Amino acid sequence: MTTTALQILNTVYGYPAFRGHQSQVIDHLTTGGDALLLMPTGGGKSLCYQIPSLLRPGTGIIISPLIALMQDQVSAVKQLGLRAAFLNSSLTLREAAQVERDLRAGDLDLLYIAPERLLQPRTLELLDEVNAAPPPAGLALFAIDEAHCVSQWGHDFRPEYLQLSLLVDRYPGVPRLACTATADERTRAEIITNLRLQDGAVFIGGFDRPNIRYRVVPKDEPRKQLLKFLRTEHPGDAGIVYCLARKKTEETAAFLAQHGIPAVPYHAGLDAATRRRHQERFLNEDGLVVCATIAFGMGIDKPDVRFVAHLDLPKSVEGYYQETGRAGRDGLPADAWMCYGLQDVVMLRKLIDAPPADGVEIDEMHRRRASQQLDTMLGYCEVTACRRQRLLAHFGETLAQPCGNCDTCLDPPETFDATVVAQKALSCVARTGQRFGAQHIIEVLRGGAADRVLRLGHDKLSTYGIGADVDPFTWRSIIRQLVAHGLLALDPEGYGGLRLTSAAGPVLRGEQVLKLRRDILAPRAAAGAGAGKKAKRAEAVLAAAEFEPDAATTALFDRLRNLRKRLAAEAGVPPYVIFHDKTLALMAQRRPTSEAALLGISGVGQAKLERYGEAFIAEIRAEESGVGEGVD
Ligand code: ADP
Ligand code: ZN
Repeated sequence: MTTTALQILNTVYGYPAFRGHQSQVIDHLTTGGDALLLMPTGGGKSLCYQIPSLLRPGTGIIISPLIALMQDQVSAVKQLGLRAAFLNSSLTLREAAQVERDLRAGDLDLLYIAPERLLQPRTLELLDEVNAAPPPAGLALFAIDEAHCVSQWGHDFRPEYLQLSLLVDRYPGVPRLACTATADERTRAEIITNLRLQDGAVFIGGFDRPNIRYRVVPKDEPRKQLLKFLRTEHPGDAGIVYCLARKKTEETAAFLAQHGIPAVPYHAGLDAATRRRHQERFLNEDGLVVCATIAFGMGIDKPDVRFVAHLDLPKSVEGYYQETGRAGRDGLPADAWMCYGLQDVVMLRKLIDAPPADGVEIDEMHRRRASQQLDTMLGYCEVTACRRQRLLAHFGETLAQPCGNCDTCLDPPETFDATVVAQKALSCVARTGQRFGAQHIIEVLRGGAADRVLRLGHDKLSTYGIGADVDPFTWRSIIRQLVAHGLLALDPEGYGGLRLTSAAGPVLRGEQVLKLRRDILAPRAAAGAGAGKKAKRAEAVLAAAEFEPDAATTALFDRLRNLRKRLAAEAGVPPYVIFHDKTLALMAQRRPTSEAALLGISGVGQAKLERYGEAFIAEIRAEESGVGEGVD
């Protein structure tokens, strides 16, 4: 590893050491190599192209599809003292001309640019010119962010990305780094082929996010369950609630707001100004909840998202992992909470199997893949061993020991011999003609007198009432698991009708013992240490930074946060761009009163010291000498 890269890490970013593959990637790029970098959201990909851009002559060109976020990305790196700009359609001609001048003069460390802009002949000519210019001008590297957009297989496909392969021939000496958080093997192969990275290195790593606690709860009354989760575990915290449908994001946000939790919706159907406003509030405010479709979140790098909740089952484990990865990027404890039930499976099956309304040819391959992804997701939901082990295994990583920080580790689910109840349920499905949904089947099993049961004569069946001893919640759990384990299948029409699969035979005939998990509506006890009794926010952050907070430290931490808020408003950036909570927690603990001592704190680099050092030292001194307001 070059000492210079480390020096930059220390002085510019204020971090003591590299993480994971960072130093290898940086070395590889700095010496002119191409690479594909797969790292989860929050893994630290941006340093991997920013530092080589500083080490190599010329400007690092960062290609990103996320125009809406470029402004924020640029403000954040400017706070670090880097010279950065962006080129996209939101700039006026004059502004764009200024950026071009700076680029030609070699006055930029980083330039963020949208692919469609880069591919315009005019821009390519500009880059040709810069590439041929003597230092300090020049092209340091190309970083292709969100590189999975080049995959025709994935959901985020962007045709312009395919054309980025022209960079190879046009700028042969300029190294390229493709970055993505999507680990799917097929996507990976497609990135390499489509971006012509065959000669490059591949760095994969660090998919474990140990600070995220994964949890899946059986769906009963989802909104109430969500409300309870937020009230007991995340009062005042910022987080994201993912829903499948646009309308539901709005309803959920309204519901939370009614119950005193500040919440706003976000989906692609809202006008651009509203989306922008909601996103900005999320970045700038302390405890806003965004109820969103998956349209929200790509490129959001707010580090203090304390939870990501899923009110609906995600379509794939990749999607789930990417969405949950938006929690806890600051390394402090965060929750990935999901609520799921049979209705979710019905819904997704319907989406997969329904013939497209517009008469488009159904792509059988996509359908099969979507179906496999759903099965994998169900497998994850129903797992009885460590959830993190299952997740990481999916991404090709192994975790030797159960993690101790997921619901199945903290509160191991009980399994029971479900052979007999399963036989009852399966027989009932068979007897009623393999076309009714779970609700009807349960009604028959429990011997209910619903109109429909009587009208259809299902009260005359031999399976009528044979499951009266099992409560409806448990029946739902059993049927859901039978579907997840592939013993029951849902009708392709999406009405939720159940039928037997060939896998049901051995269980029905008593040739196979079936073990299922026993779902409990309200978890027995709060899972694990500290889960139930949520400390006040400040104390929780301080405690997570590994020391016992006393009252004075907590008070100082709060004051530092207020100071940060004021400075952020003045600078027009989100608070976390100034310092992370973790950095403030360290300041509150160690109380540095000199510049040298402040520099010793992780997250304080040279530029931030110069900009904000004095203000923070003054605040700490005021506290020390007891002149601070409201100190107890
Ligand atoms: P990604 O682009 O992979 O989603 P980022 O590059 O935004 O992730 O990094 C996530 C967070 O981790 C950022 O706040 C960044 O400053 C921080 N970070 C990155 N590398 C390090 C490191 N070596 N030490 C400490 N913090 C780091
Ligand atoms: Zn675990």
